[in-house]
Amino acid sequence: MHAPEMCAARDFNAAAVDLLAAADCVGCHRPGPALCPACATELEALPHRTQPSPCPVGLPSVFAVAEYDGVARSALIAHKEQARLALAKPLGRALALSVFGVVAAQQDFGVGLPLVHLVPVPSRRRSVIERGHDPLLRMTKECAKALKAASIGTTVQPVLAVARQVRDQAGLSAQERADNVGGAFALKRRCRLVGQPVVVVDDIVTTGVTASEACRVLSGGGAHVLGVAVVAATARGRG
Ligand SMILES: [Zn+2]
Repeated sequence: MHAPEMCAARDFNAAAVDLLAAADCVGCHRPGPALCPACATELEALPHRTQPSPCPVGLPSVFAVAEYDGVARSALIAHKEQARLALAKPLGRALALSVFGVVAAQQDFGVGLPLVHLVPVPSRRRSVIERGHDPLLRMTKECAKALKAASIGTTVQPVLAVARQVRDQAGLSAQERADNVGGAFALKRRCRLVGQPVVVVDDIVTTGVTASEACRVLSGGGAHVLGVAVVAATARGRG
């Protein structure tokens, strides 16, 4: 079976999980939708600027809507690891709030908002196949839909690729993470973002070294990186 067919088959199974087996809220575990209206409010907060400590050199401003705790953590894990695909929409909306935070913080746009290009931090192809889906890309597409619904012109540009394998970041110090991800990403050949406003998007920010590396590669390719938008920031990374 080719990889895309495998992805499609797993996607189908994951959708079945959403429909049948796990019909409860990931936040409060009450029967009902994957995220009940009460728990969803925790992902609908105003975006706030967050900064890892220590802050990696070259990391632009980072906006999040939640701490990586409670409902946000449960929803991100259930979406990523258990393929609760119905969570892509509320998580995408949360990401859209953070993107808006990044864009609104810019001083040089005057009254008009530019067309914003969203660049997800790339996932390892192996992880995508193992999980049966690409959680961040799915969230980013929902994020773009939410921004377009708010009349903010947006495109999704998955132009970063994993250039080499990195170690699992868990348990590494900030310096070890920086060394681990250095040179990990490369621009795809079809990237056409020279001079274009770009927001790097990810699910969470911890030390910021991964996002920083993504920004470095995009800036090196001529893109105008406005900042980084995430759903949640870990307490460890807050400064
Ligand atoms: Zn709930």
